[in-house]
Amino acid sequence: MDCRHLSVDELGNCKDCGQTIEEYLAELSNINYLEFPSVELPLVDLGDLKGILKLADSTIKTFECKLIELYDPNSSGQPKIRRIGNLIFRQTWNEIWNEIVAKSYPEAVRLGYRQSLSKWNEFLEDTVKVNLFLQKK
Ligand SMILES: [Zn+2]
Repeated sequence: MDCRHLSVDELGNCKDCGQTIEEYLAELSNINYLEFPSVELPLVDLGDLKGILKLADSTIKTFECKLIELYDPNSSGQPKIRRIGNLIFRQTWNEIWNEIVAKSYPEAVRLGYRQSLSKWNEFLEDTVKVNLFLQKK
Protein backbone atom coordinates (compact mmCIF):
# COMPACT_ATOMS: atom_id res chain seq x y z
CA MET A 1 0.00 0.00 0.00
CA ASP A 2 2.95 2.28 0.70
CA CYS A 3 4.57 1.44 -2.66
CA ARG A 4 4.72 4.43 -4.98
CA HIS A 5 5.09 2.16 -8.02
CA LEU A 6 8.14 4.03 -9.27
CA SER A 7 9.35 1.30 -11.60
CA VAL A 8 6.96 -0.58 -13.79
CA ASP A 9 7.57 -3.23 -16.40
CA GLU A 10 6.53 -3.00 -20.03
CA LEU A 11 3.00 -4.17 -19.13
CA GLY A 12 2.59 -1.41 -16.56
CA ASN A 13 2.92 -3.74 -13.59
CA CYS A 14 4.89 -2.59 -10.60
CA LYS A 15 8.28 -4.23 -10.30
CA ASP A 16 8.48 -3.46 -6.59
CA CYS A 17 5.16 -4.68 -5.17
CA GLY A 18 3.75 -6.61 -8.11
CA GLN A 19 0.56 -4.58 -8.42
CA THR A 20 -0.85 -4.85 -11.93
CA ILE A 21 -1.90 -1.87 -14.00
CA GLU A 22 -5.52 -3.08 -13.79
CA GLU A 23 -5.37 -3.08 -10.01
CA TYR A 24 -3.79 0.33 -10.06
CA LEU A 25 -6.51 1.77 -12.31
CA ALA A 26 -9.23 0.15 -10.20
CA GLU A 27 -7.70 1.77 -7.15
CA LEU A 28 -7.69 5.14 -8.87
CA SER A 29 -11.33 4.85 -9.89
CA ASN A 30 -12.27 4.13 -6.28
CA ILE A 31 -11.05 7.52 -5.18
CA ASN A 32 -14.09 9.65 -4.63
CA TYR A 33 -13.06 13.04 -5.86
CA LEU A 34 -16.29 14.53 -4.53
CA GLU A 35 -14.91 13.98 -1.04
CA PHE A 36 -12.29 16.64 -1.56
CA PRO A 37 -13.39 19.85 0.07
CA SER A 38 -14.37 22.49 -2.44
CA VAL A 39 -12.51 25.73 -2.13
CA GLU A 40 -14.44 28.95 -2.27
CA LEU A 41 -12.37 31.50 -4.14
CA PRO A 42 -13.26 35.11 -3.57
CA LEU A 43 -14.27 36.94 -6.71
CA VAL A 44 -11.50 39.31 -7.63
CA ASP A 45 -12.48 42.65 -9.06
CA LEU A 46 -9.86 43.37 -11.69
CA GLY A 47 -11.37 46.67 -12.68
CA ASP A 48 -11.66 47.72 -16.29
CA LEU A 49 -8.99 45.33 -17.47
CA LYS A 50 -9.30 46.32 -21.11
CA GLY A 51 -9.09 49.98 -20.23
CA ILE A 52 -6.06 49.38 -18.02
CA LEU A 53 -4.25 47.49 -20.77
CA LYS A 54 -5.08 50.26 -23.23
CA LEU A 55 -3.74 52.83 -20.80
CA ALA A 56 -0.56 50.77 -20.35
CA ASP A 57 -0.16 50.70 -24.09
CA SER A 58 -0.68 54.42 -24.56
CA THR A 59 1.64 55.21 -21.64
CA ILE A 60 4.38 53.20 -23.29
CA LYS A 61 3.66 54.91 -26.62
CA THR A 62 3.99 58.29 -24.90
CA PHE A 63 7.44 57.27 -23.72
CA GLU A 64 8.39 56.03 -27.17
CA CYS A 65 7.40 59.41 -28.62
CA LYS A 66 9.60 61.10 -26.00
CA LEU A 67 12.45 58.81 -26.98
CA ILE A 68 12.18 59.98 -30.56
CA GLU A 69 11.62 63.62 -29.61
CA LEU A 70 14.46 63.85 -27.11
CA TYR A 71 17.02 61.51 -28.58
CA ASP A 72 20.28 63.38 -28.95
CA PRO A 73 22.79 61.68 -31.23
CA ASN A 74 25.50 64.02 -29.90
CA SER A 75 25.17 63.05 -26.26
CA SER A 76 25.93 59.34 -26.25
CA GLY A 77 22.33 58.29 -25.89
CA GLN A 78 21.25 60.77 -23.24
CA PRO A 79 18.15 62.90 -23.75
CA LYS A 80 18.52 66.36 -25.25
CA ILE A 81 19.21 69.33 -23.05
CA ARG A 82 16.00 71.29 -22.62
CA ARG A 83 15.24 74.85 -21.72
CA ILE A 84 12.15 75.81 -19.79
CA GLY A 85 12.16 79.53 -19.01
CA ASN A 86 15.55 80.25 -17.48
CA LEU A 87 16.11 76.64 -16.65
CA ILE A 88 18.44 74.56 -18.73
CA PHE A 89 18.42 70.93 -17.78
CA ARG A 90 18.93 67.43 -18.96
CA GLN A 91 16.72 64.70 -17.55
CA THR A 92 17.73 61.08 -17.58
CA TRP A 93 15.59 58.59 -19.50
CA ASN A 94 14.72 57.08 -16.15
CA GLU A 95 13.35 60.38 -14.88
CA ILE A 96 11.33 60.87 -18.05
CA TRP A 97 9.97 57.34 -17.78
CA ASN A 98 9.06 57.77 -14.10
CA GLU A 99 7.31 61.05 -14.86
CA ILE A 100 5.18 59.53 -17.60
CA VAL A 101 4.35 56.48 -15.48
CA ALA A 102 3.39 58.66 -12.50
CA LYS A 103 1.16 60.82 -14.71
CA SER A 104 -0.74 57.78 -15.97
CA TYR A 105 -1.18 56.24 -12.52
CA PRO A 106 -4.26 58.21 -11.34
CA GLU A 107 -6.05 57.19 -14.54
CA ALA A 108 -5.09 53.55 -13.90
CA VAL A 109 -6.57 53.80 -10.41
CA ARG A 110 -9.72 55.37 -11.83
CA LEU A 111 -10.04 52.35 -14.13
CA GLY A 112 -9.85 50.03 -11.14
CA TYR A 113 -6.15 49.29 -10.90
CA ARG A 114 -5.57 48.50 -7.22
CA GLN A 115 -1.84 48.18 -6.83
CA SER A 116 0.74 50.75 -5.84
CA LEU A 117 2.49 53.17 -8.19
CA SER A 118 5.65 51.08 -8.03
CA LYS A 119 3.66 47.99 -9.08
CA TRP A 120 2.19 49.99 -11.96
CA ASN A 121 5.74 50.95 -12.92
CA GLU A 122 6.84 47.31 -12.77
CA PHE A 123 3.87 46.22 -14.84
CA LEU A 124 4.66 48.78 -17.55
CA GLU A 125 8.34 47.85 -17.54
CA ASP A 126 7.44 44.20 -17.98
CA THR A 127 5.08 45.12 -20.81
CA VAL A 128 7.88 47.04 -22.53
CA LYS A 129 10.16 44.02 -22.16
CA VAL A 130 7.48 41.77 -23.65
CA ASN A 131 7.00 44.20 -26.54
CA LEU A 132 10.73 44.28 -27.24
CA PHE A 133 10.84 40.51 -27.06
CA LEU A 134 7.92 40.13 -29.47
CA GLN A 135 9.42 42.59 -31.92
CA LYS A 136 12.62 40.55 -32.06
CA LYS A 137 10.70 37.39 -32.93
ZN1 LIG B 1 4.27 -0.87 -6.50
